[in-house]
Amino acid sequence: MYIERNLSKIKKLAAIREDDNYRFRAFLKGKDREKIDRIVHRLHKKIITQIDCSTCANCCSCLTTEVSETEINVLAHLENMSPEEFQDAYCEMQLGDICLEDMPCRYLNGKSCSIYENRPEQCKTFPYTHKPGFVSRSLGMIRYYEICPIVFNLMEMLKEELEFRRRF
Ligand code: SF4
Ligand code: SF4
Repeated sequence: MYIERNLSKIKKLAAIREDDNYRFRAFLKGKDREKIDRIVHRLHKKIITQIDCSTCANCCSCLTTEVSETEINVLAHLENMSPEEFQDAYCEMQLGDICLEDMPCRYLNGKSCSIYENRPEQCKTFPYTHKPGFVSRSLGMIRYYEICPIVFNLMEMLKEELEFRRRF
């Protein structure tokens, strides 16, 4: 199984395949969603053994992270700030959610997370390909396709397994 890890190549291919990916999303909507989840979870397990997030960290550079109140309390404590000061200084509202506003993330140090043990839940679970509901999250997956090698490779393998007719 060939795994693409080159981030600039992935970004270029994502632009070329954008229309195809929207076609694939429509194609998935007509399929058995539980069956798709079973395939996605099997592919996820294969792919994560082949991709080392500690050499990538692209999600930490390109996406903002949602934080809960509990997580704000933890991060504020690490910064010697009150939760209110922390929120004013480092957070913003996005579609009703509180997010860390810096991009790349303020806790990214090279390709490592400087608060790894205390990283928010969203960081632990991204890109969500181990979770149920892949088809209902397929719009997000198209967005993450250009950012995350796990999603890119998984979507390509899924297209192949489902015999989706690619144009690119
Ligand atoms: S908190 Fe850590 S894991 Fe989460 S986005 Fe920032 S650097 Fe990445
Ligand atoms: S989750 Fe995806 S984008 Fe984030 S570090 Fe791992 S492979 Fe890279």
